[in-house]
Amino acid sequence: MKKPNPTVLGKMRCQCGDEMEVRQRSNGKKLLYTYCPTCKQDMRSGEGLQLFWRANMVPLDADLPTISESLAIDTKLPNQDTQTIKTPVSDSNAEITEWEPEPNEIEDDHDSGDSGGFLGWVLGGLVTAGLVVLGVKVVRAV
Ligand SMILES: [Zn+2]
Repeated sequence: MKKPNPTVLGKMRCQCGDEMEVRQRSNGKKLLYTYCPTCKQDMRSGEGLQLFWRANMVPLDADLPTISESLAIDTKLPNQDTQTIKTPVSDSNAEITEWEPEPNEIEDDHDSGDSGGFLGWVLGGLVTAGLVVLGVKVVRAV
């Protein structure tokens, strides 16, 4: 008849998406286990999983993270660094609206003209000299 109330330390999101309780066994090593209304009890005692439960459970009166956040944590089990993940938001929109291509194009033309000026001058001179030589030859041939 007697069934002692389980020691519920916290709760967390189960992989199935349901909310599960993180409980502590009353005997032995006081290992944690979880109880999900869908998946039922998970009594695995692996050290990594025990640490994962202990690190990711929240108090019973706290809000659980969303399912997507919970899944992101699951993929990195049992690492806890996943809390710092940030999703970049709407900065790109500001860049797009403020982007003005025309002044840049004008500047590019100006720059390329300056930087290629010397080479262009030399090539132009060579072509001119070549034409002059050819012209002279043509003139002499005629
Ligand atoms: Zn579940």
